[in-house]
Amino acid sequence: MSMRIGYGYDSHAFRDGVPLVLGGVTLEHPRGLAGHSDGDVLLHAITDALLGSVAAGDIGSFFPPDDPRWKGADSAIFLSEALQQVELAGFRVVNVDTTLILAEPKIGPHAAKLRARVAELLNIDRSRVGIKAKTPEGTGTEQAAIAHAVVLLESFSLDILLEEESSVEVSLEDEQISGFMGGDGQQ
Ligand SMILES: [Zn+2]
Repeated sequence: MSMRIGYGYDSHAFRDGVPLVLGGVTLEHPRGLAGHSDGDVLLHAITDALLGSVAAGDIGSFFPPDDPRWKGADSAIFLSEALQQVELAGFRVVNVDTTLILAEPKIGPHAAKLRARVAELLNIDRSRVGIKAKTPEGTGTEQAAIAHAVVLLESFSLDILLEEESSVEVSLEDEQISGFMGGDGQQ
């Protein structure tokens, strides 16, 4: 089985009067993140990590920021495209780990909701999604939200596909045999 690792980074400035969307979840907060799309810095970092893991470019190469189609777009669309690239390359997500760096709001109370949503978007169990947050101590980045993400992928191994195929054959045979053994031929 072959494995891949991917890394993604993103940052967006805070802006008054727009909703704050992180990890596909809208949080109650007076300021949101500026951006051409919904500004979801966390999903953008995960999207870049996925694309990077299969050397498929980056979020900007799939969704140019000057393209009016992506104005205010739900970033789940970007993540979904990246996931498709991963699958096309023959891989699936093992786990993802992330760190958010922002002065506020506190992520702790929302982390479970963010994990659940990211897990749902990636189609993996929430035990495979890490959401961590730090405040920007000494970095001077209080006016921005920053996200880092790493993903681990494993290949859809041929062995597994062959195993799955042969187990289908076996179960068919079993059924045929038990049908035969049953002797009434009325299945
Ligand atoms: Zn972004």
